[in-house]
Amino acid sequence: MTARVLVVDDVVANVKLLDARLTAEYFEVLTAMSGPEAIAICEKGQCDIVLLDVMMPGMDGFEVCRRLKGHVATAHLPVVLVTALDQPADRVRGLEAGADDFITKPIDEMELIARVRSLARLKVAVDELRNRANTTVALGMIPAFASPDADDGRRGRILIVDDRATSAERLRHALSAHHTVSVEPDAHEALFKAAEDNVDLIIVSLGLAGYDGLRLCSQIRSLERTRNLPILAVADLEDRQRMLRGLELGVNDFLTRPVDRNELLARVRTQLRQKRYADSLREKVQQSIELALFDPLTGLNNRRFLENHLATMLDNSRGRRSPLTLMILDIDHFKRVNDTYGHGAGDEVLKGFADRLRGIIRGGDLLCRLGGEEFVIVMPGVDLAAAARIAERARLTIEQDQFVIDASGQAIPVTVSIGVAERAQEDDSGALYQRADRALYRAKSEGRNRVSADAA
Ligand code: GH3
Ligand code: MG
Ligand code: MG
Repeated sequence: MTARVLVVDDVVANVKLLDARLTAEYFEVLTAMSGPEAIAICEKGQCDIVLLDVMMPGMDGFEVCRRLKGHVATAHLPVVLVTALDQPADRVRGLEAGADDFITKPIDEMELIARVRSLARLKVAVDELRNRANTTVALGMIPAFASPDADDGRRGRILIVDDRATSAERLRHALSAHHTVSVEPDAHEALFKAAEDNVDLIIVSLGLAGYDGLRLCSQIRSLERTRNLPILAVADLEDRQRMLRGLELGVNDFLTRPVDRNELLARVRTQLRQKRYADSLREKVQQSIELALFDPLTGLNNRRFLENHLATMLDNSRGRRSPLTLMILDIDHFKRVNDTYGHGAGDEVLKGFADRLRGIIRGGDLLCRLGGEEFVIVMPGVDLAAAARIAERARLTIEQDQFVIDASGQAIPVTVSIGVAERAQEDDSGALYQRADRALYRAKSEGRNRVSADAA
């Protein structure tokens, strides 16, 4: 995985060192010697990851980080702070400034590469999501979204997997002020809980007595239900090699024992924020897919879905040599409902109408709202005579089963006209639809509140 890494340091030798190491791993490296210079590069969208020295004259690393995270255009860029080993308080300050990670000087080359690779992977995944979500925003399908730092990273549901009671208890105690925390000593049980309970973050001890913690991490990554669950690994300092291996397996972040309480809190907060941001993007994309295929008022499939799917249904019925019928239902004088009771009441009637139709169709049928007060039902395996009977039942249900508007308690009289047609051998979806539409027209012109079947 390659990525564009921006190295920011005021000391030329440090910049050169990092540049050489990262270039050797095939990262593309950009450099900046000051905070303002770094911010300008980030704002132009020229890099994917920022390696940021804390100690710089003028604007220090914390401030650069805060500015990057506070700006919508750069907030999503992963920032790794480079701090001095003897300044543990710096780590916490850095994570509080919104940094995604940090490494200490003197820099351990393997750790550097492992962390940068892990962040690059995350960035690629989140970028793809954001691009899709942005497209739907641009298309006006969903409203624009807030920058990620609106989230305080609290109130997470956290599962700790640790079989050493005192160590688990220490973690739980530190986290429970801001989060809902549970502890599970058994790895199998933990995997089950991670998939079943709505967990936001899992903390895995790599020193489990009866199970390989890294195996648990890789299982979490490969299960569909837990694929996006952030993993924070905890290990002893001697276990560094395995921790770096963990980052390759998809562990998001790790802590070494003894765990510093503030560092734990800050890293947990960062993971929760990242997860929620990615979740919100995924939700937007999902929402836009739904908007493209479903009618938001009634929850039924929309015209676009029908247009795409009807041809497939026709093909299938032809392949099986079985009948297929299509009915169009159009509410009578619906304009009067709006005019008399208001548009809101009209919407209520449309929802109630859709619910009544849901009660009539069977499993393989397709029910859509075409738009306005027109609905379509496609019924595979149903011939014209049977479809006409079903249509008549629908008509009667609409006429007799009253539409009562919640707000006013008023009952609104509603009737429907229905045109039904069965596919002929040579019909494509347009031809079938047209014959049903002609039948509907006849039902309307013969006085409404009736079913007309296409004689074909
Ligand atoms: P007909 O018996 O000939 O079908 O008469 P109609 O009034 O039902 O038919 P027409 O097509 O003339 O009018 C449909 C009305 O449906 C006009 C429009 O304002 C209303 N309408 C369309 N979509 C919606 C909607 O989403 N909500 C509400 N409340 N009304 C809608
Ligand atoms: Mg109508
Ligand atoms: Mg109409």
